[in-house]
Amino acid sequence: MSNIRLIKRFVFLLILIILFGFVGDARPELRNIIIISVDTLRADHLSCYGYPLQTSPAVDAFARDGVLFTNCYTLTPLTTPSFGTMLTSLPPFKHGAKRNGLSLYRKVKTLPYYLKRLGYRTAAFVSNWPLRKKLCGFNKDFDAYYQVFTKKRWLGIMNSEGEAPEVTQKAIAWLKKNRKCRFFLWVLYTEPHAPYILHEKFTFDYSQVPPSTYPPKTKMKKIKKYDSEIAYTDYYIGRLIEKIRQLELYRNSLIVFVGDHGESFGEHNYSRHGRKLYNSTLHVPLIIKLPGNRLKNTVRRENASILDIGPTIFSALNLPGSFPMDGINLFNREGSKLNREILLETYGGTVHFRRKDRRYHMKVKPIRYAILNGSIKVIYNLKSNSFEAYDINKDPFETTSIFYKLLISARDMKQVLLGKVEQVKKYIKLNRNLRLREAVLSKEDLERLKSLGYID
Ligand SMILES: [Zn+2]
Repeated sequence: MSNIRLIKRFVFLLILIILFGFVGDARPELRNIIIISVDTLRADHLSCYGYPLQTSPAVDAFARDGVLFTNCYTLTPLTTPSFGTMLTSLPPFKHGAKRNGLSLYRKVKTLPYYLKRLGYRTAAFVSNWPLRKKLCGFNKDFDAYYQVFTKKRWLGIMNSEGEAPEVTQKAIAWLKKNRKCRFFLWVLYTEPHAPYILHEKFTFDYSQVPPSTYPPKTKMKKIKKYDSEIAYTDYYIGRLIEKIRQLELYRNSLIVFVGDHGESFGEHNYSRHGRKLYNSTLHVPLIIKLPGNRLKNTVRRENASILDIGPTIFSALNLPGSFPMDGINLFNREGSKLNREILLETYGGTVHFRRKDRRYHMKVKPIRYAILNGSIKVIYNLKSNSFEAYDINKDPFETTSIFYKLLISARDMKQVLLGKVEQVKKYIKLNRNLRLREAVLSKEDLERLKSLGYID
């Protein structure tokens, strides 16, 4: 072949490459979206987040294929509000499910709603009672919404939780059936939620663990069981991921691993989760594996929140800003600026009386707000009209409030926080006529939510 012909061919090839946009975009195709979540999972109890025990070998391996966000927070440390935020990319005061037992507002659109319109088949496997269809209304936007409630909880009386083997097996069966289509799959494991069980094959030696690993007043007996539940769940997450690989669905999927909230084990004189705004219940793991394992084994330290999952997914789909969502694309360095303010909120128990009154949800009142900017958090307790502030880098267990130490930034943040609280109040008032997707609470729901401590 003559040189001229060779050059001609080269030029033609170059034009093709430019026309079809292959230059500089070696991104593999994003085919499927999978969210694997674990209820009540503290980030700091996973080995990939620095916990000194090997509680999470499967999640650690997964993290090596993805991007691990060291500082991810839920906005409300409770199941329905938190997953409501994950699915809508709106804070609880905007999506309506402010407590367990309250559903999303009817007018609010969700991630599966949009994805369905983009041609995705959508399915969820949930294993915690507050996510029952009739309570949260999440099912309305999924093609299939499977409730796995087989495990007995609370003195063995109630089947309020699903078991990891069954959740895994059902999700795998669904994957096998639907592997050929484009899909969005959400799987929720619930083992680390109280009451905790010690699994014989998943126990640890705590003799070498430095006491500084835990906040003051931590109840170690509970921690040992809690860690065992995490390791047990991790084993099944490993099996699920292995199957995703075997079905050749791993490489081109965007896979998110996330927790909905943490757990308090006696620190701040508080056990469990839902009403306070300390890191023990707010700090959650977030790991995102991109198609082709792009940016694999990366660690990102800026603040992130569950709010950001939706915008990040739509940006990966090349549809940034197409849908009305709060939150940011976590892979847009410009957007994830360091001085971002994250508003946190908690509410009192679900009001269960007069639910036929369309405005009954207005009776669920906020009890605390907080704002997080960088490493400084200011918490506002509405009942006592008091403030606390912490630098969570220097005091990760938030043991000593620095609010009255003339910390100028904390005082400034107080003003910003109060301004935001006013905006929230206005928003709630303006939207007081919004209808919830579900308003009926059965006697059984009421008993179960009461037993879980979610009703005052
Ligand atoms: Zn939860």
